[in-house]
Amino acid sequence: MTNDKQRITYWTKASTSHSCWAGSNRDLQEKFLKTRKLNAAAGGNSLCTGDGITMASDAGAVLCKTFGYCPCEYGGTNAKASRPAKQDKYDQNYWFKFGLYGNLLVDAEGKRFINEGLLCDYPMSYGSEQIVLNAPWYGIVDQDYVDAMQTQGLYEYTTAKGATAENWFIGNYFKGRILDKLPEDAEEGLAEGWLAKADSLEELAEAFGLKDLPETVAKYNEYCDAGEDPQFGTSPWYLSKIQTPPFYAVQCEPSAWSTFGGVRTDDKLRALDAENQPLKGLYVVGTDNGSLYYSPYYDVPGYCYGLCIDSGYIAANEAFDYINM
Ligand SMILES: Cc1cc2nc3c(=O)[nH]c(=O)nc-3n(C[C@H](O)[C@H](O)[C@H](O)COP(=O)(O)OP(=O)(O)OC[C@H]3O[C@@H](n4cnc5c(N)ncnc54)[C@H](O)[C@@H]3O)c2cc1C
Repeated sequence: MTNDKQRITYWTKASTSHSCWAGSNRDLQEKFLKTRKLNAAAGGNSLCTGDGITMASDAGAVLCKTFGYCPCEYGGTNAKASRPAKQDKYDQNYWFKFGLYGNLLVDAEGKRFINEGLLCDYPMSYGSEQIVLNAPWYGIVDQDYVDAMQTQGLYEYTTAKGATAENWFIGNYFKGRILDKLPEDAEEGLAEGWLAKADSLEELAEAFGLKDLPETVAKYNEYCDAGEDPQFGTSPWYLSKIQTPPFYAVQCEPSAWSTFGGVRTDDKLRALDAENQPLKGLYVVGTDNGSLYYSPYYDVPGYCYGLCIDSGYIAANEAFDYINM
């Protein structure tokens, strides 16, 4: 048995770990995020499997109640894909862009579940809860849209429909991003089984069991004609009618840079028990700390890095004082 002061060295080390159990611990995903479909985004650490949270919990620490994740903003992804969405600088299959380009999105029944424009504008904050709860979700596009993305790209296409630098703040990001490899990327997606293509909506729906898709598209097309979305309030410049075959459905899963949520602590980063009393010698820093990080992700640059670095500094000083008491 170790005493409190011996234990401190072990715990401060172990508790800095395992911030991203996305993709690496499906049981924790199911327990805290209610999905088994979250994948680790490029650069995520597959060694992070939630050990720190589990160890602190076993030692009597209480967990905070809200768990979340920091989603990859470069598109949907899929565990079946050989080139999933990562970052634009990496090779990735372009079809995953239709997981969050503002086009029609549906859930596993073929029903809409989100303001698609909000997901495109704020993929890391507003969208994260909705896409994880509805995973896998499906991006639905027709051939007109695919052609437009191959020739114009999202910036030209959307500004032609009324978006401006003033009212579409994320627009500049899409400037010059022409999806010129869609035909060859489609072959890969079809072969890997996460993309479906069909000449009718009924046939497309069958591919993934999206039973309400034809009805959803009929309603959605009415909104496109009216230039107004009374169901979710998606901006008219994101409404793109589904009318020209072939039609496509992209099966998307979310991916994460890191996960959030974990052990409850006080301001000295000491783990707390269920009575909010500190457990002597047990400190929790980084994204395993459920009092610093929880859902949703905030669109604040350095949100993760900042708290990870500062919490380590604070905990180290507190541990030093405790050892020398
Ligand atoms: C590609 C990418 C881009 C990112 N961009 C940003 C950004 O721009 N801004 C921002 O704020 N955040 C960003 N993040 C998130 C940020 O990097 C993380 O939130 C942060 O690094 C988490 O720090 P941490 O100390 O909690 O855990 P980690 O950095 O995950 O460190 C955990 C360490 O513990 C080790 N470990 C695992 N298991 C054990 C074990 N059993 N025993 C001992 N050691 C173990 C792991 O190998 C790892 O070294 C990004 C993340 C990624 C992956």
